Amino acid sequence: MSGAPPVCPGRFAEVVLPVPVSRSYCYQIPDRLAAGVVPGARVVVPVQRRTLVGVVRAVDVAPPPRDRAVKPIAAAPDPPSLPALSPTLLELADWISRYYGAPLGLAVRALLPGALWGVARPAGPAEGAERVVTLVGAALPSLLERERAFARAPKRRAAYEALEALGGSAPVKHLLERLKLSRAAVDGLVAQELARYAQVAQPRDPFAGLESPPPPELTADQRRVVDGIAATPADVPVLIHGVTGSGKTLVYLDVLRSVVASGQGAILLVPEIALTPQTVARVRGVFGHQVAVLHSGLSDGERADAWRALRRGERRVAVGPRSAVFAPVQRLGAIVVDEEHEPSYKQGTSPRYHAREVAQVRARLEGARVIFGSATPSLEMLHLARTGGARIFALPERIGARPLPPVEVVDLRTAPRLPSAGAIPWSEALDAAVQAALGRHEQVILLLNRRGFATYLQCPACGVVRECPRCAIALTVHQTPAALRCHYCGHEEPVPARCRACGHEVQRMRGLGTQQLEHFLGLRFPEARIARMDLDTTSTKWAHHRILERVSRREVDILLGTQMIAKGLDFPQVTVVGVVDADTALHFPDFRAGERTFQLVAQVAGRAGRGPLGGAVYVQTRAPTHHAIRAAAAHSVEAFAAEELPLRTTPHPAYPPHVGLARFLATAPAEPDAQAAAERVAGWLRRANEERLSGALTVLGPAPCPITRLQGRWRWHLLVKSADPRALGRVMRAWRALGRRVEGVTVDRDPVSLL
Ligand code: ADP
Ligand code: ZN
Repeated sequence: MSGAPPVCPGRFAEVVLPVPVSRSYCYQIPDRLAAGVVPGARVVVPVQRRTLVGVVRAVDVAPPPRDRAVKPIAAAPDPPSLPALSPTLLELADWISRYYGAPLGLAVRALLPGALWGVARPAGPAEGAERVVTLVGAALPSLLERERAFARAPKRRAAYEALEALGGSAPVKHLLERLKLSRAAVDGLVAQELARYAQVAQPRDPFAGLESPPPPELTADQRRVVDGIAATPADVPVLIHGVTGSGKTLVYLDVLRSVVASGQGAILLVPEIALTPQTVARVRGVFGHQVAVLHSGLSDGERADAWRALRRGERRVAVGPRSAVFAPVQRLGAIVVDEEHEPSYKQGTSPRYHAREVAQVRARLEGARVIFGSATPSLEMLHLARTGGARIFALPERIGARPLPPVEVVDLRTAPRLPSAGAIPWSEALDAAVQAALGRHEQVILLLNRRGFATYLQCPACGVVRECPRCAIALTVHQTPAALRCHYCGHEEPVPARCRACGHEVQRMRGLGTQQLEHFLGLRFPEARIARMDLDTTSTKWAHHRILERVSRREVDILLGTQMIAKGLDFPQVTVVGVVDADTALHFPDFRAGERTFQLVAQVAGRAGRGPLGGAVYVQTRAPTHHAIRAAAAHSVEAFAAEELPLRTTPHPAYPPHVGLARFLATAPAEPDAQAAAERVAGWLRRANEERLSGALTVLGPAPCPITRLQGRWRWHLLVKSADPRALGRVMRAWRALGRRVEGVTVDRDPVSLL
């Protein structure tokens, strides 16, 4: 080693690495790789003692100062004509980084599937064979039949019911290790010939085979919307505001068909792909093998394959959740965002992008059209349309002129309840409706947006509620397996026999969860076949799918579940929908609590009466006069917006959509450190506001978050509002420039949750 600095001859490239920094790095381009090192291409580069995959941002950049050693690029795996990122996607990454104040490296990383960041080619999708146990016989037995089959065999019954809840089939490992069922019980089921063991080589991908018959002719209303969109300039975003069951999907498909016919490609975003097999089937029915379905069940290798097929133009239409907004579709002609109001379009980790915003920016960069659809549009979207930023097309009626179902609001404070229901809020009105539907062999959907058995465990003597040791959150009581669980961090502990604080025996369970509702329904309607859909029953691969398939084959009489069952399902035999407790989120300390409640109740109400049998909805609530409940009962987002928008102007300063919002969140193991970090950021913001932004910002806080502790870290936050998006933009860029110098603080622009 000589002391002389190396001379830097030749050409240089600016490379972004997939790490949480915004700066880029300079590498030398060896002659042998010159052809492949183009903007957007992946390159393999040495970083300290490691080797990483990065993306070229620019070539022929100025050489670095002579005293800095510059290393050469080691490899350039992309074909020169087809770099991993197109110029527009590279620009999109820049926009995301600037707009959300996120490190450029993380924005770039979000744009490519994980396997493309590996230095070695990823191993194929081989996951090895898996031993599963599957229930025998298609139909679910009723409670009565079950009583007979499992008399004196409660463990076997528990195993049976767990399997059933999981959609009829589950890996043995999952049952024994995760659900803590005994092997003897599972073996017993097999011996009883109620279940059998099988070896599955590769879990079947249920999306691969989905296809539905050719779509019907457009109705006059749908035709009017399709023509209206065609006559709208491509750079004007479109909102299709169609009531539930108005046939929005067919409109999307028709628009996409002309896009594809003209030689372009398209992206269809759906909130959660596992919950939308019907939409996937319809898209496949129209576009067949031209579709790439980007679902969470894909292995890394399969995901990379789907990505390559799109990048090469072998597939033209990408369907997927929020990350599909980055799908490398060639000659992009349109992006459709179905159910645009869904909070799942927001990414929870950096870069905290909202696919609804990113879709608009990407469409603008690529000259593509963007179409949003919802029966319950977000107030942001309505505001955009009302201020001229988007054009609304309405589908005010259901297909076949079917009426929207009547909604009866049941006041839980006064309505007669079923005496045998005990503490469960179960009104006589809902009970009679369910009973009657079952008598007519129709299907019922019941929404309860709280999983577990009971919401919390409380000591009746001293009143102490058992909380998570890591989070300021009450632990939820679960059965199968019995445990107290934290729904925020996953902490789990046994259900205590006595109070830890005062030693009192007999602890009380309070608050209703889906498991308890299921138990109650089993007793109340012993002949009904009941399926439960929530995070606990859908944790295994394809479980959503198996449950929904059973519903569509009419092997389920009552489908109960959390918000999962409120999304887009189209089952014409469902005649009764019940919202067991509409108030679960109504009083959350979040300015969108009313909006979320409105959307959830209106959406689940829209699952009723989709067929010729008609239907009715029962909404049980203790707040029957709340505008969110009343508007949902009227299926009217206009009514909701008319009351909600004025509320968001007060207290001054306002809330979105009247202003832009960003949230800074400071966390630390010790509370004073979280507070101090939040105060430092507040000081920085207030100074910037006075010195450089002429007071365009309103800085609120810092204050403790509504959830004061999560995963062992205390949480403080502050909110920044501004009517001027450029002022917020400057804050984001200044924040990004600070880099990671502010330890433990993150920023979330346009947050969807303030908890
Ligand atoms: P939305 O998403 O607006 O709630 P869907 O797209 O699920 O509504 O459509 C509701 C139902 O109407 C579906 O079963 C669909 O197959 C059917 N449908 C849609 N368009 C037509 C049409 N033009 N003719 C007949 N049936 C239609
Ligand atoms: Zn926790």
